[in-house]
Amino acid sequence: MTFISVENLKTGYETEKGTVQAVDDVSFALENGESIGIAGESACGKSTLGLSIMRIVPDGNIASGDITLEGKSILKMSKSEFAKNVRWKDISMVFQGAMNSLDPVFTVEEQFIEVLKQHRYNGDYKQKISEIVNSVGLTQDVIKKYPHELSGGMKQRIVIAIALLLKPKFVIADEPTTALDVLVQAQIINLLKKLKKDGMSIMLITHDLAIISEVAEKIGIMYAGKMIEFGSAYEIYKNPKHPYTQALLKSIPRLRGDKVTNYIRGSPPSLIQPPQGCRFYDRCPHAMEKCKKDPPKFKTDSGYVSCWLYE
Ligand code: SF4
Repeated sequence: MTFISVENLKTGYETEKGTVQAVDDVSFALENGESIGIAGESACGKSTLGLSIMRIVPDGNIASGDITLEGKSILKMSKSEFAKNVRWKDISMVFQGAMNSLDPVFTVEEQFIEVLKQHRYNGDYKQKISEIVNSVGLTQDVIKKYPHELSGGMKQRIVIAIALLLKPKFVIADEPTTALDVLVQAQIINLLKKLKKDGMSIMLITHDLAIISEVAEKIGIMYAGKMIEFGSAYEIYKNPKHPYTQALLKSIPRLRGDKVTNYIRGSPPSLIQPPQGCRFYDRCPHAMEKCKKDPPKFKTDSGYVSCWLYE
């Protein structure tokens, strides 16, 4: 059964120069128990996609499309119904850089209590906080500490715990390992794997394709506001189809074999007046005349690819 689906979603930001179409006609779906990794360069629309699912797009707006959770449209709900019944309860988010926004003058316990109060939690606060701290692999002594007394990895676990407080079914984690050292990155990835094992679906947003395979069965590759390839992680790692996905995978530094790290020349197009055809045209080694037309969408074994090479 389809757990969550995003259909033809368009989200933009109004600027003096025009609308920046940060998410442009994006579609994907997950079955029950599946997780997805969203990868792409900075400013490709990954975070805006996550924020759109949370219906929190600062200074932006969702122009069209639909998002359904367990068959029910969450975009057609009123703002108040979504805030009361879905945001944080069914769908929750670990925002990019959130560990740096923990309030330095309050203890971890006070920050948890604040969130529970805001959501009118009527159970036992102490028990709830103790359980959630346990579930993210931290010891009980962190509860009375201030953020400055915690390491980066501990703070990241605390912000993940805050996102998990109301037992959501779907958690969006935006760059949860960025700015952490590799050992702490591994701890956070292991924590996400454990949450997934416990039955949670995760959307892992990252610029690092290497970590997605650890957590997600599905991958969505974004480029200049579009999802240009979507499918099973196994298929995309083994046989990436879109030239951009191929280039992205080749740019991961390797310990063995070819020591030359590849990079993608050029830069993405403006999202205010993007080209009508394939947005990767200027950087693509296989570009053809017909790529200047509207980019196509061809079915693959587990999803789709938006490239004329697969006509
Ligand atoms: Fe390259 Fe054309 Fe495919 Fe775009 S549609 S990625 S330009 S081959």
